[in-house]
Amino acid sequence: MTDILTLRPLERDQWPSAMTLAARSFQSEPFIIELFGVEPVQRFTLAQQYYLSSQWYDNELHLGAYVGEVLVGLCLSSPAGQCHVCEHTDPARPPDGPTSVDWSFKVRVRAAHADQGTHGWLSRLAVDPALQRAGIGRSLITHTLERHRVDRAHTVLLECQPHREDLIPRRGRSRLRPHAYRLGGNRSRVTHGADSSLHERALRGRSGYSLLPVPI
Ligand SMILES: [Zn+2]
Repeated sequence: MTDILTLRPLERDQWPSAMTLAARSFQSEPFIIELFGVEPVQRFTLAQQYYLSSQWYDNELHLGAYVGEVLVGLCLSSPAGQCHVCEHTDPARPPDGPTSVDWSFKVRVRAAHADQGTHGWLSRLAVDPALQRAGIGRSLITHTLERHRVDRAHTVLLECQPHREDLIPRRGRSRLRPHAYRLGGNRSRVTHGADSSLHERALRGRSGYSLLPVPI
């Protein structure tokens, strides 16, 4: 980490570029391939539409990582008692538009949160592909949890896939509640294209999300 890189709250006018960064960062993640298919241009286009259709809420705690003025990472979270997925997911009716694609997953996440008491939620951690494995993700998580601590939260929840568990401090992994829910189950846009190996890898990545309660 260098002095060139700074962490600061995301501003509302940066939301569109933050959502494009999310689409770019998650382009090769199994859940994006499962949702939007193996063809890369179509996958990026649909993923960007999905993220851009999500709204900005003033109450949320979004942290950005910047190199100079360039946004290179983000950590999106909700404060204690205002968990976005619990407040904004209607289990009786899917939303209109692109965000309907993972509605049933969000319903299962909401159900898994139900017995966790008052909680914050760390929803997304994204780092520009050019700067991944440079410690930016861990730094964003650490500073986000510190903000929740200042905010007097007791527990922050996050969903984690097995290939991202290395972002969690080893002592925290014992708290993982494995295989609480899977992404699959709603309509899938996956098509068998030329790169079937990518599709196979994506399906292998569907080994389930774990719920991780992080005490603050
Ligand atoms: Zn929740």
